Amino acid sequence: MDFRLNDQQTLLRRTVREFAEAEIRPHVREWDEAQHFPGELVPRLAELGLMGIQIPDAYGGAGMCALDYCICIEELARVDPAVALSVAAHNGLAVAHIFMFGTEAQKQRYLVPLARGEKIGAWGLTESAAGSDAAGMRTTATRRSLGWVINGTKTFTTHGRVGHVVVAMAVTERARGTHGISAFIVERGTPGMSSGRKEDKLGMRASDTSEVIFADCQVGGDQMLGEEGHGFTDALQVLDAGRIGIAALAVGLAQGAFEAARRYALERTQFGQPIASFQAISWKLVDDATAIEAARLLTYRAAFLEDQGQRVTRESAMAKLFASEAAVRVADNCVQIHGGYGFVKDYPAEKYFRDVKLTTIGEGTSEIQRLVIARQILSS
Ligand SMILES: Cc1cc2nc3c(=O)[nH]c(=O)nc-3n(C[C@H](O)[C@H](O)[C@H](O)COP(=O)(O)OP(=O)(O)OC[C@H]3O[C@@H](n4cnc5c(N)ncnc54)[C@H](O)[C@@H]3O)c2cc1C
Repeated sequence: MDFRLNDQQTLLRRTVREFAEAEIRPHVREWDEAQHFPGELVPRLAELGLMGIQIPDAYGGAGMCALDYCICIEELARVDPAVALSVAAHNGLAVAHIFMFGTEAQKQRYLVPLARGEKIGAWGLTESAAGSDAAGMRTTATRRSLGWVINGTKTFTTHGRVGHVVVAMAVTERARGTHGISAFIVERGTPGMSSGRKEDKLGMRASDTSEVIFADCQVGGDQMLGEEGHGFTDALQVLDAGRIGIAALAVGLAQGAFEAARRYALERTQFGQPIASFQAISWKLVDDATAIEAARLLTYRAAFLEDQGQRVTRESAMAKLFASEAAVRVADNCVQIHGGYGFVKDYPAEKYFRDVKLTTIGEGTSEIQRLVIARQILSS
């Protein structure tokens, strides 16, 4: 077993870190306060290959592996978790779904511009009455002579307002339950598709989240993604890999919060000494550093197995569960170590504390990860 990153991965980490420090860090607070989705950053992300991280060069991507993907997401999340969430949702959901299940024609038409960063992807599974129980969705797609007509509303869609290409799941045959759900690729500008309310969020405020509404939205038969009736099972497979991205996001966010807390603990003096010299503070940092290492190892292991072509349902759920819950504790400690200054916007602690909660909710809550893992460890 070799736990070292290779030279290319070390260079990748340094490159993404330098980019995030130079081009994201100065704007983090302003974008958060304004809930501004930084579309202006997308061409720069694309230059670095971050809009098609795991997509082969032949389809306009950077051809990196799952472990490289983790490094990229981690380094973005260390500086701004909201930007990391956008990159993870684009790559890990819409782009991955089209790459995994699209036809060659769909890949040429939709995947290439997405992977090059000329377009932004969105992925709609969740609805207001169907979150954890996504199979209970009400959005329908009805067959017509020229294709399908979609009706329904997706909620909490990342890039619901700024996305150019939406992958949406809809019921095509209610009686068949989870095997009666299909996926469709819908382009912005298609009559009948519009964006609904933009969510006013606790954290991740620079990541665009909104409803996507389909009202008699007509799409061609060639816009069905994957086989008819396979949309839900394909989506679960997309989420298996996607969750590794959210785990990496949690690791990067925790790393950023830990570094901020460590720096502050060494600078801040009370009772004539740096607060880091108090065991109550240093042990928090010790526990945080240890939890981050453990979370990173679980995440990299899941990525390693994905790179070996294995199904990673159990490993990605474990990585996401552990990393996100560890990150919540690290962000909490970060605020605590900053004392009152952790509660105000002059320091980064309060933003990590707000952003981190998404990691235990998005792409399946902690409760759902436990459910997934329970099924895996209890089935013979
Ligand atoms: C910022 C943000 C971005 C998102 N981006 C996307 C996106 O791009 N695309 C998309 O499709 N979705 C997206 N989501 C939706 C997200 O995946 C859902 O919010 C999540 O799956 C939970 O669904 P819910 O909010 O309806 O909660 P619910 O399912 O209503 O859950 C409420 C509570 O009940 C618990 N619960 C539910 N069922 C069970 C059970 N069987 N056992 C134990 N506990 C249970 C949950 O764990 C949770 O604590 C996003 C959400 C947010 C906040």
